[in-house]
Amino acid sequence: MTQPSIPPLKPAERMKIPRQSMPAQSADLRNANFTEVNLGLGEHLAIREAQRCLDCKDPKCMNGCPVQINIPAFVTAVARGDFAGAAKHLFRDNALPGISGRVCPQEKQCECLCIRGNKGEPVAIGYLERFVADWAREHAAATAPVALAGMDNSTPQDARPACPTSPVAPTDGTPRGRVAVVGGGPAGLTAAGELARKGYAVTVYEALHDVGGVFIYGILEFRLPKAIVRKEVDQLVALGVKIECNVVIGRTYTIDDLLSEEGFNAVFIANGAGLPVFLGIPGENLKGVYSANEFLTRVNLMKAYDAHSATPVLRPKQAAVIGGGNVAMDAVRTAKRLGADPANLVYRRSRTEMPARLEEVHHAEEEGVAFQMLTNPLAILGDENGWVKALRCQRMELGEPDASGRRSPVAIPGSEFDLPCDVVVEAIGTKANPLLTQTTPDLKLDKRGNIVVDETLMTSKPGVFAGGDIVRGAATVILAMGDGKKAAGAIDRWMRGAVGS
Ligand code: FAD
Ligand code: SF4
Repeated sequence: MTQPSIPPLKPAERMKIPRQSMPAQSADLRNANFTEVNLGLGEHLAIREAQRCLDCKDPKCMNGCPVQINIPAFVTAVARGDFAGAAKHLFRDNALPGISGRVCPQEKQCECLCIRGNKGEPVAIGYLERFVADWAREHAAATAPVALAGMDNSTPQDARPACPTSPVAPTDGTPRGRVAVVGGGPAGLTAAGELARKGYAVTVYEALHDVGGVFIYGILEFRLPKAIVRKEVDQLVALGVKIECNVVIGRTYTIDDLLSEEGFNAVFIANGAGLPVFLGIPGENLKGVYSANEFLTRVNLMKAYDAHSATPVLRPKQAAVIGGGNVAMDAVRTAKRLGADPANLVYRRSRTEMPARLEEVHHAEEEGVAFQMLTNPLAILGDENGWVKALRCQRMELGEPDASGRRSPVAIPGSEFDLPCDVVVEAIGTKANPLLTQTTPDLKLDKRGNIVVDETLMTSKPGVFAGGDIVRGAATVILAMGDGKKAAGAIDRWMRGAVGS
């Protein structure tokens, strides 16, 4: 398919274009359904937004992208109306752009460095990334030779990406070696795709019955439809990545089994940090208290939002969700959709300190979530039958900055009050699950139980690499993907004998 070529605008004309808004379902409709909130830019809006890009000689946006997408190249291609060309640039550096375009905290990554933002608002890079990924999926025939360039041994040599960090796979079809990937989340899937492109035979072992990690059990359908995840995983399978679900490494096989009996040459551990942390306040054993992981897994992965699903979940009349990150935001918006009125978000600092993506905070507010800011939970109160009836809280004020640089909350004496609720969801963080590491005693861990790696992401065990949340602690999708990409490069060099041998 040939693409139209729209002539470039002069810089002054580009500066006059306002940032385009993302079309979305109206708040009063969407707070009662689980379908996607953002509707995506159409072709016209995408071109208009991309025309705002100044195509800077020394672009800064890429410095904020952990997977080093060539942002000016793909954005200027969109501005020309060359969507297939844009897809070519995007897929070269990012195997999962439909996902990262939806869930990346762009305002803290690429967009906060965008030079266009020095005067006015930055280019909406995330919206454009999503647009191109969706366009490519919908126009698979037009992009097949593009999106699959370098992913397929049958692709002609000159059609492959000229990416210096992606050596071309062997053309005789013989794999360069066998790599096992533990965990099918963003870190594992990215590493798997990169390694397959480099010519390795890759098997992903996933503990759950489906791959995607947080994409499928955590982040909700209304932010990231499962069909998008499925399509991007299908592209990896088409590359030759083998996926084995219902395999728990540490139980079904140990890491040593993978390297000996199963015959893998290297392993990438990307099993995330899925063990919930609780506040340790009185009343956590009452009926109606969930970790965010359990609440979201029931509703999301096990489809409890669907009346026909066999998965039980309490449909809150009044909910209190504790936390201020993306997980808390997903949980409180879910509680709202299940009928909670009010659905309270209880956070001990102020809105400015909330780590959640700005867009999620904005959407939650529009949907009618009740923000209980500067509020610290003290205890969960129950009725005579052991069911949650309220959350005892205390009001806080902001004091001096703490080690994180954020102003720390200080309790206001005598400000205690009870927030009525029948469901409490704790979304205050997660940590590493020791199941895998306990069975691999020669893996060096830090004091939080995360795996220690060197600058190539190799662990204390030769040939065993690790990345994503299991190394960083709970972080972001794009950092996990960046680790997956980096680990794939390091594994390739290690296998060729350049590193660690
Ligand atoms: P995970 O995504 O956790 O994947 C690990 C995988 O390994 C899982 O599939 C797990 O089942 C599997 N596994 C675990 N143990 C084993 C084992 N022993 N054997 C085999 N498989 C195993 N980040 C953002 O950037 N933007 C957001 O909007 C955002 N929202 C979030 C919302 C929620 C509800 C949650 C929970 C997280 C959110 N995050 C967000 C954080 C982000 O999703 C994580 O930082 C990221 O998924 C980490 O990727 P990972 O590949 O390291 O681990
Ligand atoms: Fe920005 Fe994330 Fe896309 Fe990189 S991957 S350009 S950080 S939205």
